[in-house]
Amino acid sequence: MTRQYNFCAGPAALPTPVLERARDEMLDYRGLGLSPMEMSHRSADFVAIAERAEADLRELLAVPDNYRVLFFQGGATLQFSMLPMNLLGNGGRANFVQTGIWSTKALAEAQNLGAAWHVAANTEPEGNVAVPRPNELDISDDAAYLHYAANETIGGLAFDYVPRGRRADGAEVPVVCDMSSSLLSGPLDVSQFGIIYAGAQKNIGPAGLTLVIVRDDLLDQAQAAMPGLFRYDAMARAGSMINTPPTYAWYLAGLVFEWLKDDVGGLAAMDAINQRKANRLYAAIDQSEFYANPIAPLNRSRMNVPFTLADSRLDGEFLKEADAAGLLNLKGHRSVGGMRASLYNAVPEAAVDALTAFMADFEQRKG
Ligand code: PMP
Repeated sequence: MTRQYNFCAGPAALPTPVLERARDEMLDYRGLGLSPMEMSHRSADFVAIAERAEADLRELLAVPDNYRVLFFQGGATLQFSMLPMNLLGNGGRANFVQTGIWSTKALAEAQNLGAAWHVAANTEPEGNVAVPRPNELDISDDAAYLHYAANETIGGLAFDYVPRGRRADGAEVPVVCDMSSSLLSGPLDVSQFGIIYAGAQKNIGPAGLTLVIVRDDLLDQAQAAMPGLFRYDAMARAGSMINTPPTYAWYLAGLVFEWLKDDVGGLAAMDAINQRKANRLYAAIDQSEFYANPIAPLNRSRMNVPFTLADSRLDGEFLKEADAAGLLNLKGHRSVGGMRASLYNAVPEAAVDALTAFMADFEQRKG
C-alpha cells in the first residue's frame, strides 16, 4: 500500500494513523461486534464517542464554558443561510467583509433570504491580494454581526488579525468567522468571536459534518419562523441530536482530535509544523522566476498556496508529471486556474519537500 501526497483543497488528506485506527475499528468497535457506523446515535456507546469528541475539541481550542459546540450537516454553505436566520431576529444588519469567493457567497446567501445587509469592505476591485486593514472597515452603526472568512481557500488569502467594531450604542459587534479551511491549524482565542464555523472536510474530518461554535448570548436572536433543524438554540438544547447526526463523520472527527492531541502534541505543535511547511513552499516560489504567487506576504495563507507557472501552456504537463510523481490534486480551482497546493494538518512536511524538489526539477527542465 502506498499513500501518495495529497494536496487536495477538500475533501482533503486525513492523517494515516486516523485511517488505520478507523480501519481497525471498522468491523468490531472495541469488542462490541459492530462498526461505529451501525450504532444508534442514542446508544450509550455512541453518546460516549460524541461527548469525547466534543471534550477533546474543547480542550484543543480551549473553548470557554459560555460557548456551545454544535455538530451540523449541510456544510459551511448552509451556515451562510443559517447565520442571518439565527442572528437577525432582533433587527440590525449583517455586515460582510468580502475578500474572495467564499465570503462573497456568504453575502449572496444573506441577500437571497432578503436579509438586511451591509458591506463593510470589499477587496475584489484590487484583486483580493490583501485583506482590508482595520481602519478600512466601515462597520454599520446597526451591525447585528460582522462576517468574514479567516482564510479564503481558493484565493489563498488569510487574515492576519481579527476584525472588530462597535455599534452606535458602543456595544462590541459579534464577530462571525468562516474558518472552514483554517480551524485547528493552530491555537485560537475563541473568546474574540461570537460564532466560529467550519465544514469538516479540511482539518477536521470527512465531509458531511459542520462545526459551529457559538457564544451563549447569541442563541436567542433567531427569527420566529424557521425550520427547527436550522436553529442554533434548538440544536444546543438537543446536544446536536435533534435528529440522526452524521455519526461516522463525528466519530472520525473525534479520531482526528485525538491524533492532534496525542500524536501531534496539540495546536501549538501543529502551528509550528504548518508554519514550516508554508515557509518552505513560499520560499521555493519566491526564489524562482518561473513560479509566482500574487498575495501580499502578510496575508499569504498557510493552508492553501496558489501559484502560477510563467508559461501557462505548461500547466497540463506540470500536473501530469506531478501526478505521476505521487503529488496529487495540485490543479487550481476552476475559477482561477494555475496550481494550488493545500497544506492542511494531515499533509506531512515530507510532502512539501517532495513538491519543492519536483518544482525545481520541472523548472530546470522546462523553464
Ligand atoms: N467556506 C470556505 C472558506 C470553504 O473553503 C468552503 C469549501 N471549500 C466553504 C465555505 C463551503 O463549504 P461546504 O462545501 O462545506 O459547504
